[in-house]
This record gives sequence, C-alpha cells and structure tokens, in this order.
Amino acid sequence: MKIVVFSTKSYDREFLSAAAKPLGHELTFLEPRLTSETVQLANDHQAVCVFVNDQLDAAVLRSLAEQGVRVVALRCAGFNNVDLPTAREVGIKVVRVPAYSPHAVAEHTAGLILTLNRKIHRAYARVRDGNFYLGGLLGFDLSGRTVGVIGTGQIGTVFAKIMSGFGCRLLGYDEYPNAKCRELGMEYCDLTKLFAESDIISLHCPLTPQTHHLINAQSIAGMKDGVMIINTSRGAVIDTQAVVEGLKSGKIGHLGLDVYEEEADFFFEDLSNEVIPDDTLSRLLTFPNVIITGHQAFFTREALQCIAETTLQNIADIDRVGSSKNEVAGDHSQP
Ligand code: NAD
Repeated sequence: MKIVVFSTKSYDREFLSAAAKPLGHELTFLEPRLTSETVQLANDHQAVCVFVNDQLDAAVLRSLAEQGVRVVALRCAGFNNVDLPTAREVGIKVVRVPAYSPHAVAEHTAGLILTLNRKIHRAYARVRDGNFYLGGLLGFDLSGRTVGVIGTGQIGTVFAKIMSGFGCRLLGYDEYPNAKCRELGMEYCDLTKLFAESDIISLHCPLTPQTHHLINAQSIAGMKDGVMIINTSRGAVIDTQAVVEGLKSGKIGHLGLDVYEEEADFFFEDLSNEVIPDDTLSRLLTFPNVIITGHQAFFTREALQCIAETTLQNIADIDRVGSSKNEVAGDHSQP
C-alpha cells in the first residue's frame, strides 16, 4: 500500500523504513501533524500513519475518505484522537498497536517516582556545580508506602509488579480487575478509598469521557496531604489547573507528568529558543517538586521496533484480508 506518515521524526523514519521492506509498502514521510490544514497531503495514498497528537476529527476523516484513504494506522496504543463513529461511517478502518512494550512506560513511570522522591534531578545539577550539601534532598522509603494504580491493563500491571518489588502496598481501580495484579497482592477498591489511602497515585487508564479530568479539585481534596501524582497515560485525565492549585497549597507533594492536556502544540518539538505561550505549562515548570517529560515514556528501542512492525503489519492485513486483529471498535469501551 501507499502509506503517508504524518508527524515524522528521524526515529520514525528509521524504524518504519526497516519494517516496511519485507512487506513491500511504499512510504511517504511528512513532518507536519495531520490536521484540517494538512489533510490534503494524504492525496494519492490508501493509508495514513499517525501518532498521538494528529487530529482525526470528523472533518479530517471525511476529507481522507474523499481522497481514497481506507486505513488510519495509529502507531500508538491510545485512540482518543480519532472520531471513531465518523471513521466507521465513511468506511475507514482504524488500527492501532495495542501492546508494544508495557515495560517501557511502566519503567519510565517508576523512573519519575524515584527521581521525584530522591530529587535526583536536583542532586545531579547540585553536584555538577560542586555543591555536595544534602539539605532539600530528603526523600522517603518506598517500602511500606501505598501505591494506587488507576487502570490495571498491560502497563498498569507491569507497573504494579515493579512497585511490589519495592515492597509497596498496592491499591487498584479498574472496571476489569485482573488476576495478575491480584496475585501481586493488589486490593481493588473504589476511587474514594484509593484517593484517601494512596501515597502515590499513578494513572494508567485510557482517556475517555469517563476518565476526562478524573483528577480534579474534588478528587484532590480527598487525597492524602503531600500525595505524589504520576501521569503517563493521557494529559486530559488530569485537570491541570486543579493540580497547579494543589501544588500551590502543598496538598500535592510531588507531580510527575509525561503527558499534558495541551501538549499537542509543544511536545516532540525543540522550542528551547522560544517563549512558551502556555501559562499553565510555564507555571508547572517553576515548581521544584514537579518533573515533566515530553511524552517519552514509550521511547525505547524495543518499543519503536515493535510499533513499526505492528503498524505496518496491521495495514498489510487490511490490504490482504480486509481485517486486522488490531482494529479499533467504534466505541471507547474496549480495553
Ligand atoms: P490497556 O488497554 O492494556 O489498559 C487500560 C486499562 O484501563 C484497562 O484495564 C481498562 O479496563 C482500564 N480502564 C478503562 N477505563 C477506565 C476507567 N474509567 N477507570 C479506570 N480504569 C479504566 O492499555 P495500556 O497499554 O496499559 O495503556 C494505558 C494507557 O497508557 C493508554 O490508553 C495510553 O493512553 C497510555 N500510554 C501512554 C504512553 C506514553 O508514552 N506516555 C505509551 C503507551 C500508552
């Protein structure tokens, strides 16, 4: 198939080109994001390959269908950026990579926790400046602390295993509890209990209408004083303004974000010579107890190779047999 790849970075080109060879796909690499302004660039292709911040709203999908596009291939797990009912209506199949390396995201999540707790980012800068003073670097033992995991699918399960290795008590919230987490000793409970008893709350659920702003002023009020919140799922699961207020009051002791609800305009780009026009993001960057990474949790060699191979196989399956095991159903209910 002729496939146009939007939001291309050098690493996408490297891994997708290698995976395309055995399948015989023809790839066109484009740097712009897919939006209503760039959608015409898909002309003359049967498939578009997109990432987390490409826009696949109704207007874009209709335009893609008019141009003859039959497949939208997400090179990620989440599909919150696709208007699925419209895709179905215009006959475009949507495929994704449901699992690549849950270890990549879970390990990054643990990295954020360790860095925030033991202030490794601050120690690094301090020691390089010849300052070996320990004041301000005090952390806490993870052993014995309670970790609340919201969403215990593939990533949440690997994360729970890692935290169980540190000797943490595990609380979980998920409509579909899983046996592996229970074997680790996880206690499933409602959100009220999870918020009230967790020292660390980590988000591993998809972004859906039900999880939009799940972390908000009211839920923060029900959390422990000094709670650590980690979000490596999708930005809008957190009401960022509410979290800023929680940090200002001291209610939230640590915040680790790999995603941000307005990330589409900033993440994956080098803006080091520009002024960030987003006041909320700028405010977050001023807190000493906040770490933000730019949606890099997935970014390991193993994950990129698996994403490239699965994405292109998904398209080949649609081309050859008309369906793929990784097709996204027309609603948000599938795990
Ligand atoms: P998964 O589908 O295996 O697991 C998601 C779990 O969330 C499921 O068990 C599901 O039942 C549960 N869930 C659904 N709605 C829920 C709700 N309202 N409350 C609580 N739980 C709910 O997905 P996964 O592979 O573990 O990925 C989880 C999320 O992580 C993805 O949806 C994606 O948004 C995010 N992600 C981020 C990165 C990154 O680089 N930061 C990479 C991959 C995935």
